[in-house]
Amino acid sequence: MPSEPAERKSAIRLSVPELRGREWAYLKECLDSTWVSSVGPFVDRFERDVATYVGARHGIATVNGTAALHVALLVAGVRRDDEVLVPALTFIAPANAVRYVGAWPVFVDAEPDYFQMDPAGVEQFLVEGCEQRGGAVVNRASGRRVAAVVVVHLLGHPVNMGPILDVTRRYGLPVIEDATESIGARYQGEMVGHLGDIACFSFNGNKTITTGGGGMILTDRDEWAGRAKYLTTQAKDDPVEYVHGAIGFNYRLTNIQAALGCAQLEMLPDFLEEKRRIAQRYGEALRDTGLRTMSQAPWAHSTFWLYTIRFSGGRQASRGAMRFLADRSIQARPLWQPLHLSPAHAESQPRSCPIAEALSAESLSLPSSVGLTMEQQERVVDEVRAWLSHAMGTADVGGS
Ligand SMILES: *Cc1c(COP(=O)(O)O)cnc(C)c1O
Repeated sequence: MPSEPAERKSAIRLSVPELRGREWAYLKECLDSTWVSSVGPFVDRFERDVATYVGARHGIATVNGTAALHVALLVAGVRRDDEVLVPALTFIAPANAVRYVGAWPVFVDAEPDYFQMDPAGVEQFLVEGCEQRGGAVVNRASGRRVAAVVVVHLLGHPVNMGPILDVTRRYGLPVIEDATESIGARYQGEMVGHLGDIACFSFNGNKTITTGGGGMILTDRDEWAGRAKYLTTQAKDDPVEYVHGAIGFNYRLTNIQAALGCAQLEMLPDFLEEKRRIAQRYGEALRDTGLRTMSQAPWAHSTFWLYTIRFSGGRQASRGAMRFLADRSIQARPLWQPLHLSPAHAESQPRSCPIAEALSAESLSLPSSVGLTMEQQERVVDEVRAWLSHAMGTADVGGS
């Protein structure tokens, strides 16, 4: 039988879990103790440890990051028919969570350098598009109350929070951080997840640390934390008599998942070092190609969750490279469809977000798993370079 080409033998995935800590030991504790379900010592410990890690007073574990966002919006006071500012360029979950509470996302364009929500876009919408009416901020075009801003720290890089916090304070709007992609990143030395009023993490399998599936809400506000715990655990007023004071949710994380989380969190500093090393190597190896490599802002300490490159040839180049890499068993992924163009959010206020569109067209995330070996990374780099030489001979222009 003819042997497969070498590159087919081992696929290189975009982002896979790294399970080399005390996961087995902690899972065994769960099984041995029969604490496998939705309460248990690992849940309490994981909440405490993540909160301590980011410097927040409270952590409330949830079944996933999307559920965390849903409840964070509720406790931040977002209600039906309100509006919430959300970046146009992001994974769809935060915009969907806004719809779960019956509110509407207003999409804000990205800045062109770091993929993040543009503070100027937030300010412009509030200053030019809104007015203060009876203590509320009202969108003049829709007549709806603007209730919050969701910032999303994308790809391991923090949003430029200073100007956003300045303007939201002026308007009295709470800031919800979607920090699902960026645990461990810092803005001017401060941890993401502790920059706004309330924050969310995800521990999905593709994130920096994983519980299989899971999430967490972080906040310093005692009252919000209490409300979040209440809503995520079926809103029980009297657990013995089954009296429920509100429509709650079963958004709990299990002790088994939390056990994984405790083991993963112990490894996080190592993982972050590894991620930054991978990013540095990609940066050096691709510097002379004319591709736009990933960088961090002067005020940012990025974790480079997914190392993302940009092709001056736009969609044709980035998707051509993606297919070329896929044929060689290397998984690369484009960024998300900008949400102002998403059929799922077609009923939202039409917005112009040209930077988000350009970034979505021209970008490709490369394999960035913590466990990516030097050899694997060299293979990725070699194949990206091979695609660029190939593209020179065709209509696909890759680098500049
Ligand atoms: C992963 C992710 C989420 C959702 O997290 P889940 O745990 O998968 O529900 C939310 N927002 C962003 C930006 C994400 O990347």
